[in-house]
Amino acid sequence: MLLRCLPLALSLAVLAACTPVDQRPAAIAAVENRQAVTILISIDGFRPDYLQRGVTPHLNALAEGGVEATMRPSFPTKTFPNHWAIVTGDRPDRSGIVANTMEDAARPGEKFTMASDDPYWWNEAEPIWVTAEKAGLRTATIFWPGSNVAWGGTRAKDSPNALSGGIRPSDWAQFNQQISGVQRVDGILDLLRRPADIRPRFLTLYFDAVDTAGHENGPDAAETTKAAGDVDGQIGLLLDGLKALGQPANLVILSDHGMAAKSSERVIVLDKVADPADYRIVESGPYASLDATPGHEKALEARILKPQPHMQCWRKAAIPGRFHYGTHRRIPPYFCLAETGWVIQPSAPAKPFAGGDHGWDNRSPEMQAFFIAHGPAFDQRFRPPSNFDNVDVYPLLARLLGIAPVSSDGNPAVLEGLIRK
Ligand code: AMP
Ligand code: ZN
Ligand code: ZN
Repeated sequence: MLLRCLPLALSLAVLAACTPVDQRPAAIAAVENRQAVTILISIDGFRPDYLQRGVTPHLNALAEGGVEATMRPSFPTKTFPNHWAIVTGDRPDRSGIVANTMEDAARPGEKFTMASDDPYWWNEAEPIWVTAEKAGLRTATIFWPGSNVAWGGTRAKDSPNALSGGIRPSDWAQFNQQISGVQRVDGILDLLRRPADIRPRFLTLYFDAVDTAGHENGPDAAETTKAAGDVDGQIGLLLDGLKALGQPANLVILSDHGMAAKSSERVIVLDKVADPADYRIVESGPYASLDATPGHEKALEARILKPQPHMQCWRKAAIPGRFHYGTHRRIPPYFCLAETGWVIQPSAPAKPFAGGDHGWDNRSPEMQAFFIAHGPAFDQRFRPPSNFDNVDVYPLLARLLGIAPVSSDGNPAVLEGLIRK
């Protein structure tokens, strides 16, 4: 028979001592007085207006019981530059993650892609989990760009598996799109089921389904709304799991950028603007980055730098200051930005297309991201400045964790009032 000899509030260890091992109640963990954890959750490509579509009851309740704001992404409004900006506090121009695809003159012949985990590409800005691990706080990531990287380490030149040094989260997972949202949530809850001494204090959780649906179908499609509802359901499972564990959590839920509709009716065909003999495209889409063919700089500039419809091009040093973009060596010498909704392609599209994309002006309404903070550490009366910069999240996270942030582009004062005194 179950021994009920102690009040519920007593510690797990004491309760365990008076309950026969094979008869401990399943919900025993709920009686432990747990320290709050911080969970940073990204819903990739989730536009703030998706919260108004009537399919996100859990997110709406968290916003209602917490603090909600629209957040400005960093430029360019792509996944890797923005996820890295959020966790490092550095804008792409400073963090070195200037795009999803990059070249670097110091690494001739190499290309950075979303699969690159060589610390070389990542070492210029310190992510919050490294700041935390250095301060002795245990961290865990169930996905976040860069969290699989031995940060600060060095990869041997001819032996990709030989790494020296570097810090990763204590628990991390190699990104795999096939791992469902529910499995990711279960993974987070499993980490929190651990004994206190090996339990993470800071965790990240990442969902890609809304971004994928937005690309395939466009931001206004029923499929995208459904994906937003599905992820909301998974957030609901997380909330249920935290409650069952008695685990208080400070949740920071956000997106990296928004989404705008694109169409084959709105294409800027680069080979009609300039002579392909004069340039090489590094990236194309909502923006294009170009390198001139050696000796063809003048010819290229004469074609692209003049005013033209739906697109503006600059030498990298002349990109307007408000983008905070153009000094890093990984940014190619020429940069063209399309008007939001227009895409730059090397040549005319072979067949009609529609859908969604991002990468455009970070002040464009369609590119804005959302931000929700909910939990015991937050002061619900605080109103963040509208469209605050996403680099301001890193100092907020450091403050939540009680650790000293490294110097970054993030301004600690912007979200200071969000934390309860
Ligand atoms: P984007 O091309 O900017 O829309 O990038 C979104 C895609 O990035 C997602 O659909 C994922 O497939 C991919 N992605 C997200 N996180 C990671 C990661 N940690 N490692 C590799 N790829 C990722
Ligand atoms: Zn993204
Ligand atoms: Zn995307």
